[in-house]
Amino acid sequence: MTRHTPIIPVDPHHPDADAIRQAAAVLRDGGLVAFPTETVYGLGANALDAEAIAGIYRAKGRPANNPLIAHISTVAELARVAVDIPERAHQLAAAFWPGALTLVLKRHPQVPGSVSLGRDTIAVRLPSHPVAHALIEAAGVPVVAPSANRFTRPSATTAQHVLADLDGRVDLILDGGPTPIGVESTVVDLTVDPPIVLRPGGVTFEALREHMPDVQRYSAAVAMDDDSARPASPGMLSKHYSPNASMLLFRGPFEAVTDAMRQTIGDCMQAGQKVGLLLPDAEQPLFANLDVEVVRLGADAAQMARHLFAALRQLDEQGVDCILARIPPAEGLGVTVGDRLLRAAEGQVIDVTDADI
Ligand code: AMP
Ligand code: MG
Repeated sequence: MTRHTPIIPVDPHHPDADAIRQAAAVLRDGGLVAFPTETVYGLGANALDAEAIAGIYRAKGRPANNPLIAHISTVAELARVAVDIPERAHQLAAAFWPGALTLVLKRHPQVPGSVSLGRDTIAVRLPSHPVAHALIEAAGVPVVAPSANRFTRPSATTAQHVLADLDGRVDLILDGGPTPIGVESTVVDLTVDPPIVLRPGGVTFEALREHMPDVQRYSAAVAMDDDSARPASPGMLSKHYSPNASMLLFRGPFEAVTDAMRQTIGDCMQAGQKVGLLLPDAEQPLFANLDVEVVRLGADAAQMARHLFAALRQLDEQGVDCILARIPPAEGLGVTVGDRLLRAAEGQVIDVTDADI
């Protein structure tokens, strides 16, 4: 595919039926369609078509080491992709679907093993975004949809991000505007007892625990993205969600982190580097009057999640050499934002917890 990829604008709340029909036909023919979900843009393919699945890995330039999530439009369709579905899956579906929660279950034999790299499991989600819902329903098949970005790049939260990464590599893009949550789904493995959160995401651990008190956290430092045998060291984090600029994160008491960030800004500037800062709105005054590029992420963790990936891409466009950010408090969506920051930074953290201040 060398031509440009067509983009069809759609109303995010009431998508045009013709646009959806056209996109669904592409999926049924084995093609690739990028579309908005409530989390990030997904790169969709027919989950029952092994050729189409191979096309996803090609388009993303992704080595086949990261299993895909199958998206469905009704709870009843669970039975098309999974077997031995435990009662807990139905309880969680009732509580969180449609929404940003992905369940790992036993894979149905009719789903090609390449969806989950030959594992006997499958990750499933029922998205709430009206465009995603309408598209999957019209396609009439489960739709695998990893984030619609090139391998290792920040996930796409607008159609323009998709185009920047995948123009000419996918058949069609549905543009439904920016995605509301802005980070990927929470993945919980129900094939183990107790269940484990494999990836923090749009549904908080706290919310999940209300419905499933025995659920366990998987350490963010060893999350499952490439293989499960990774050492539990932040330095070994997989490269993912990464800007071109190098990233440095800071952890520790508020004042000490602020001082360390100021110090590092000075050092970088001295070395002739252009510095970018990712800041919650309230912290902007702490770094005023500095010759740096600042992107405000918003007032709370939900807004930070929504803006994070676009902010990373924006700082790349502004040509910064390094991006500095504070790791947010590990609660609610702050856990998810912290996880994505850590991976974007490939684990580079300055910890000032024990620094003399
Ligand atoms: P995405 O890149 O948003 O499509 O997310 C894929 C992620 O879902 C992977 O990185 C895993 O964390 C998780 N996942 C998908 N399928 C499985 C599976 N069968 N077993 C365990 N984790 C899975
Ligand atoms: Mg991704």
